[in-house]
Amino acid sequence: MSLKFYNTASRSKEVFQLLETNDTVKMYCCGPTVYHYAHIGNLRTYIFEDVLRRTLEYHGFSVKHVVNITDVGHLTSDADDGDDKMEKGAARTGKTVWEVAEYYTQAFMKDWKSLNIVEPVIWCKATDHIPEQIQLIQNLEAKGFTYKTSDGIYFDSAKFNRYPEFANLDVENLRQGSRIDMGEKRSATDFALWKFSPPNQKRAMEWESPWGLGFPGWHIECSAMAMHHLGETLDIHCGGSDHVRVHHTNEIAQSECATGKLFSRFWLHGEFLRMGGGKMSKSTGEFLTISLLQKKGFDPLDYRLFALTSHYRNYLNFTWEALENARESLKSLRRKTDPLIGKGGEIKSALALKIQKSFKEAIGDDLNTPMALGVLNEMLKEDLEDFEKASLVLDFDRVLGLNLGQSRLEPLTEVDPSIVKKIEDLLAQRNEARKAKNWSESDKIRDELLKMKVTIQDGPNGTSWSF
Ligand SMILES: [Zn+2]
Repeated sequence: MSLKFYNTASRSKEVFQLLETNDTVKMYCCGPTVYHYAHIGNLRTYIFEDVLRRTLEYHGFSVKHVVNITDVGHLTSDADDGDDKMEKGAARTGKTVWEVAEYYTQAFMKDWKSLNIVEPVIWCKATDHIPEQIQLIQNLEAKGFTYKTSDGIYFDSAKFNRYPEFANLDVENLRQGSRIDMGEKRSATDFALWKFSPPNQKRAMEWESPWGLGFPGWHIECSAMAMHHLGETLDIHCGGSDHVRVHHTNEIAQSECATGKLFSRFWLHGEFLRMGGGKMSKSTGEFLTISLLQKKGFDPLDYRLFALTSHYRNYLNFTWEALENARESLKSLRRKTDPLIGKGGEIKSALALKIQKSFKEAIGDDLNTPMALGVLNEMLKEDLEDFEKASLVLDFDRVLGLNLGQSRLEPLTEVDPSIVKKIEDLLAQRNEARKAKNWSESDKIRDELLKMKVTIQDGPNGTSWSF
């Protein structure tokens, strides 16, 4: 049964096959910049990538899934200026950049786990791959694709004819439109490969290089790590739709100029989560995290189901009502699938096999999760033996990842809002006590919270809590 994905590079659905049979799918996904908690909008992208990996495995492929952690070099502006996001995170929290990176990396991994996202085969940190990045820049330099300004080494995008192709960029307009902000760049689409540490300023993260003390640009990190772990041509590269115009366009330019080979055969991009009609970002509205959802009584898997109800290439509008609906749907699914736990047997009837095939086709058609969920719901209504239903639920859940049809260690989180209020009041009192250095009082409150089975964690952004 063929597997089809929409490839951003060709703007069409293409059949996915490996170039060599028995090979492993080489898949690279752009990971988080660990300067803050992950927003649920970003997590939507990782849920889509998880479904992609699970679908590949469901269709019989083995997948070498690599995800990076950007812990240096991501500036607040894609135009290579603005502050370093990590340094900003450090200034905000009063921690060192390294502590910030460690703290938010752990928080991110916890979110992944709670959303039942399968661990990648390799997590790689940008700061662990500085020599590979330097080497790649040297390679580009030797081939004449770079130039030096007073603040760094830049990629000369005019030397890569196909630069505008991937994102259908109108480069002429882009170049004319932003001449004022270009600084010493030759063209608006040029980008930093290596930035020099500002003179008279000691950065927490900086390295020696052939060009002096400095740090890598965000784009070069991904190319260097992807090629280091997966080779010069990847099978699939993923990210959010906001990566197409700049980050992935730049990754392609520098990788293909360095190697002379195609960088990735397939490019898949997840669309934004929206709230109030616009892109959800850290700068607008409520900052939605998994732990906030949990505080409001949701199970992280409610959010996973919510994400699956929409196709990954469509915008998804977040509202609390929609999340409540997802929670009800998940509960209703569990009411039907929990009684089947432990009852699985061989799937053999013609009807069961036909339903299984429809599921595989739906998910294999560019990850049509709404249709796959439809197949699951219809299947539960069919006149099938329980043992077949039980096995089909487990089979479909290999892709859906909702923990259906299996025992769960923890019940669904159901928190009464009045309890949340009590916890938050106690935390506020504890903070007051801590401020006044009244340790016996703060310990007393901590014990009281522990009795309520609340775990508290004092982090750089204040105190967080969970059950
Ligand atoms: Zn990337």
